[in-house]
Amino acid sequence: MNVSVIWFRDDLRVADNPALLAAATDGAAVGLYVLDEVSPGIRALGGAAKWWLHHALVDLRSELDALGIQLVLRRGPGAEVVSALAAEVGACALYWNRRYGGPERSVDAELKSWARDNGLHDESFQANLLHEPWQVTTGAGNPYQVFTPFWRAVSAQDFRAPLDAPAAGHGFEGKLPDSDELDSWELLPQAPDWAGGLRESWTPTVAAGHELLNGFLADRVAEYSDARDRPDCKGTSRLSPYLRWGQLSPFQVWAALAETRREQAGSNGPAVFASELGWREFCWHQLFHHPDMATANLRAKFNDFPWRQPGHEGSDQLVAWQRGQTGIPLVDAGQRELWHTGSMHNRVRMVAASFLVKNLGIDWRAGEQWFWDTLVDADAASNPANWQWVAGSGADASPFFRIFNPLTQAKKFDPEGKYVGRWVTEAASPEYPEPIVDLQESRREALEGYASIK
Ligand code: FAD
Repeated sequence: MNVSVIWFRDDLRVADNPALLAAATDGAAVGLYVLDEVSPGIRALGGAAKWWLHHALVDLRSELDALGIQLVLRRGPGAEVVSALAAEVGACALYWNRRYGGPERSVDAELKSWARDNGLHDESFQANLLHEPWQVTTGAGNPYQVFTPFWRAVSAQDFRAPLDAPAAGHGFEGKLPDSDELDSWELLPQAPDWAGGLRESWTPTVAAGHELLNGFLADRVAEYSDARDRPDCKGTSRLSPYLRWGQLSPFQVWAALAETRREQAGSNGPAVFASELGWREFCWHQLFHHPDMATANLRAKFNDFPWRQPGHEGSDQLVAWQRGQTGIPLVDAGQRELWHTGSMHNRVRMVAASFLVKNLGIDWRAGEQWFWDTLVDADAASNPANWQWVAGSGADASPFFRIFNPLTQAKKFDPEGKYVGRWVTEAASPEYPEPIVDLQESRREALEGYASIK
């Protein structure tokens, strides 16, 4: 019987997984997940992301068990580990779903060339994005820099229907390869165990992702266009970590949404929700064309912006921001929500990020790194793209001079103070700190900084 290796990465699901389907169709499939923290340029996962990954792997293993397919866990440089396993099980083919980050693509290219040199068939598939970033171009053949025409072009395409999981019965019958014990990877926090809030807030399984999706589409998407900006109510889908880890595919979400759009014709909510999925695509489009987006300004003039570098004069203020101790209630509520749950409402992410970059004058990269460490949906494209959007240095970014006033934002989007009240219970007490910065004065300084690079 032909044996194939299916390498799981950001696609921790068995349904709508074209690489798994191809491996199973070929004969016997061996599943593999590699914890790669050593290939050049691969970004080590943050703490909250590791927590999610641990549980997603437990869940994937049980989904694969039901199909009779083993999941092997190994650690090391991706291309080497996959080729070693392929040799061990006598595989004649390798399959995976595509990744779009620069270092990840280099690893995949290395593996592809190994497979060809050694006579193995290799094939990769589109599974994690609705568009292929090199296929969608402006009329002049360039990558898109502006969201609206990008999304018009992408959303005009017919997306494929989601695929079923393979039938059971494609397990490997030879000597089972060794696998690391998941616990030996220590993805879960040990001492202290800071993940209690994450456990309360999330069920990181495929089934829970589908349940959230179905509940959101049935009950809440109709109100989404207004409710999405309100951190004081459940107005958004909360699907981002499931999409991040590929427990849900964008094709599955799109197909379910298309059905809802037919049923709810006339409501604006589904179309607005669809365009948010479009922002996810746009972020990946940018990362594909700018692999250094997490560290380099997309708009080079921002290289001269006089940010304060944390570790120097901004370090106390950075720590106050991280801990939710800035004395600005909406910002503190957001940072505490993030620390406790591994997530933060999008409106509050924008306000907290703007406060760091524009009121505290701290380099956006320090905020991006903090979010990378603390978000369960921390994503190599969406995180830096949104930080650069807020900082003004990104593609189709918010103009720098549009500086959120966090007090006005709180009045508008949390009018009864329910969200702030949940996270900053001591806001009205003497224990609560005075604002660490004057909002008007710091706004003026930010605009001066911007004038210096214009
Ligand atoms: P919904 O409003 O229900 O949106 C549906 C889906 O659309 C989301 O699950 C997400 O996949 C996508 N989406 C929505 N808004 C955006 C956006 N602005 N950019 C890209 N995709 C979007 N999102 C991440 O997935 N990972 C990140 O690391 C991340 N970092 C961010 C950092 C900053 C500074 C900001 C301002 C935003 C960031 N976002 C990030 C985008 C957004 O905040 C989250 O996707 C959203 O809050 C997730 O909640 P939801 O699933 O309920 O979203």
